[in-house]
Amino acid sequence: MNEASKGGGRLAGKVAVITGAGSGIGRASAVLFASEGARVVCADISGQEDKTAAEIGENAVSVHVDVSNSGDVQRMIRTAVTSFGRLDVLFNNAGFSGQRGPITEIDEANFDSVVAVNLKGVFLGMKYGIAAMLAGGGGSVINTASASGLVGWKGLAAYSASKGGVVQITKAAALDFAKKGVRVNAICPGMAWTGLAGASESPTPPADLIPPQPLNRWGMPEELAAAALFLASDESSFITGTAIPVDGGYVAR
Ligand code: NAD
Repeated sequence: MNEASKGGGRLAGKVAVITGAGSGIGRASAVLFASEGARVVCADISGQEDKTAAEIGENAVSVHVDVSNSGDVQRMIRTAVTSFGRLDVLFNNAGFSGQRGPITEIDEANFDSVVAVNLKGVFLGMKYGIAAMLAGGGGSVINTASASGLVGWKGLAAYSASKGGVVQITKAAALDFAKKGVRVNAICPGMAWTGLAGASESPTPPADLIPPQPLNRWGMPEELAAAALFLASDESSFITGTAIPVDGGYVAR
């Protein structure tokens, strides 16, 4: 057990599955959730999930998954139960942006893969993850949508469509399970400095690359992880069916 498990922590005793845990928001969330007492299943397709789990230590395991593959997702959920005995928190966070450009220039195959990972992946996570949560008496699901799921985003039609779908599947699932002890919410990041944005090349955002967000800077993965932690914890016990912008004011403009 880590220090937070011994002393309490905002997720003490809880078991969490986090997808996209090899990088960015998912990696920061895995580290933060574990520091708050959770035992964490770190899932990713990149291989970097092993590194995140090793960094956390004995309160984490890694699983190599493609979230758009049903068999992989079922194995991921089984890993939580076989390794740690239960599932309390599911953070469906893995995603990618796909091709950029007007719809006339987006390949059909690219549209299909963006929707398969970003939207069907969330569907599969909830289908199998909520079943496991119900067996344990309830839990909290957090889905990563995007500010582009709330407002139009030029040149990112497939991505925006998939993230708009995540907002709506979140609300529908929240209603399905509201009386059964499972809360379902989404976070909608604005532009955050992660692998998706270019953080693999430069750990800090270039000073001359400021996104059009009222707070006048990039979000950092830890700031998204903090919102996910709140939704994962019992502090958000009266919140379900929401899609919360964590976006430096982007959608308020
Ligand atoms: P990231 O690239 O750093 O992390 C995404 C992770 O998802 C990667 O480790 C990647 O390997 C993993 N992944 C991709 N496809 C997968 C698959 N099929 N199966 C399993 N894992 C897969 O980027 P991030 O910004 O941390 O992305 C996390 C989420 O945040 C994504 O859903 C993304 O769409 C969303 N988001 C990010 C931003 C931003 O500006 N960074 C803005 C809005 C939404």
